[in-house]
Amino acid sequence: MTQTIVIAEMNNNAVHPSTAELVSAAKTFGGEPTLVVPCTDANQASGAAGMGAGNIIAAKSGAFAHYDASGWASALDGVIPMGTIITGASPQSKDMAARLAARRNIPVVQDAVKIQEGKITSPVYSGKAMQTVSATGPVVISVRSNVFTPAEGGAMDHSVLAADGNVATAVQEFMARASERLDVSEANIVISGGRGMGSPDNFTHLEAIADTIGAAVGASRAAVDTWDAIPHSMQVGQTGKTVNPNLYIAVGISGAIQHLAGMRSSKYIVAINKDADAPIFQHADYGIVATWEEALPVLHESLKGMMD
Ligand SMILES: Cc1cc2nc3c(=O)[nH]c(=O)nc-3n(C[C@H](O)[C@H](O)[C@H](O)COP(=O)(O)OP(=O)(O)OC[C@H]3O[C@@H](n4cnc5c(N)ncnc54)[C@H](O)[C@@H]3O)c2cc1C
Repeated sequence: MTQTIVIAEMNNNAVHPSTAELVSAAKTFGGEPTLVVPCTDANQASGAAGMGAGNIIAAKSGAFAHYDASGWASALDGVIPMGTIITGASPQSKDMAARLAARRNIPVVQDAVKIQEGKITSPVYSGKAMQTVSATGPVVISVRSNVFTPAEGGAMDHSVLAADGNVATAVQEFMARASERLDVSEANIVISGGRGMGSPDNFTHLEAIADTIGAAVGASRAAVDTWDAIPHSMQVGQTGKTVNPNLYIAVGISGAIQHLAGMRSSKYIVAINKDADAPIFQHADYGIVATWEEALPVLHESLKGMMD
């Protein structure tokens, strides 16, 4: 049995809760995974306590102050033991996963949505097909969020290792995220609007529902490209973010293949579209053929009732 190592998903120098899901994924290989926390201050690793790992290593390096794919990969490569490595599937983590695999000359499987008995399943061809591979030795696997139930318990303390990163690029400016709202890639529920919303101002209707049910607000590329007020950070799809929430509500979105690529693995998909022939309905678990003007107030009221 190869050792499994989880690299903590970091957000603003804090361990992101989805890390506990990665530990669950690692446990499918058997044994007690080692959880490595890339940090600038070892205290940041205390956020990994009780996430189910057998032991926790705070990998401390100035290289982890800002994300730099090659710097992070070189710093982590120096401290991570040999074995199968599990990372998150955020764009940064996937970038790092590929670099780590290349440094170690081992395979990489991106966007895993299932790991069972050593077999790893992930979408290919923009989600049109699924592939299942088995690894005969160490492999780097990025795992989508909301797939595994978060692990609990395990190590509470961490040891500290100094990591030496070869940072190739320097961050000149760090721009805060465009909005204080929950990011689509972090949310359990996403409600997205497309060009059918008619105007960026109408996204306030989506925001109101999002606030009621604790969802993030996303958008199609047509919405993002058409309206400056809808930032690219909200875009879901092939050239936007990949989301894997329990519930994805698509409002005024046609369901083009490039949009589906970013959300079709969502557990439940609800579509609201005035066109009964819109392709999104072929992928929706529940479809409402209506304008959003008709459907959203009713939906909002009933969701409010459920949340009370
Ligand atoms: C290389 C490439 C990459 C791409 N990447 C992405 C990507 O990452 N993400 C992405 O989303 N797209 C992407 N696209 C664009 C994609 O092909 C579609 O053009 C886009 O997804 C369409 O967005 P939409 O469904 O919001 O708009 P439209 O296609 O204009 O559809 C609007 C929908 O709203 C419905 N509607 C209209 N009014 C109402 C109303 N009042 N109430 C309810 N429904 C209404 C209409 O019936 C229609 O189905 C990419 C394209 C290319 C070529």
